[in-house]
Amino acid sequence: MKMYFYYGAMGASKSANALMTRFNFEEKGKKVAMLKPSIDTRDGANIIRSRAGLQAEAILIAPDQTVREVLPVLPAYYDNIIVDEAQFLTKAQVDELREIVDAGTMVMCYGLRADFRAELFEGSKRLFELADKIIEIVTMCPCGRKATMNARYRDGKIIYDGEQILIGADDQYVAMCHRCYMKGVVK
Ligand SMILES: [Zn+2]
Repeated sequence: MKMYFYYGAMGASKSANALMTRFNFEEKGKKVAMLKPSIDTRDGANIIRSRAGLQAEAILIAPDQTVREVLPVLPAYYDNIIVDEAQFLTKAQVDELREIVDAGTMVMCYGLRADFRAELFEGSKRLFELADKIIEIVTMCPCGRKATMNARYRDGKIIYDGEQILIGADDQYVAMCHRCYMKGVVK
């Protein structure tokens, strides 16, 4: 079995891809567990939604929990574990998922590569180190080039410093190419 890491910038339809994968596996009679690090509460609770209208309930995993703690049955029960917002996994959780893969369950993680400062998230870094397959989900910068950066901005200006995760802040995010990111303004 293999560990997959699908990464992309914001707006790259990662959640939609995760939901479609789940749908396709379940349609074939496979048992799928959908996990989501609980640090991301954008959707209110444990519902994963995509802009295309798909949605599913996910099992939340807090930073101090293990995968084995949150899965209602043993990991070996599942054919496939899908993780949305996988950048928020801890290093220890990715290590545990790797053990679960080695024990025979496929794990597919979807997440961002780097934060608004252009630094890797903890979960993404460990996934780049441990995944068998690393696949980019491409999205575009408003200028038409491929977006690789996740810019945080406020009042039209890009912010380069601050806490990695600011929940409830008024700041907004946009996927950009590096050239536009360095220009410092959002049109
Ligand atoms: Zn650009």
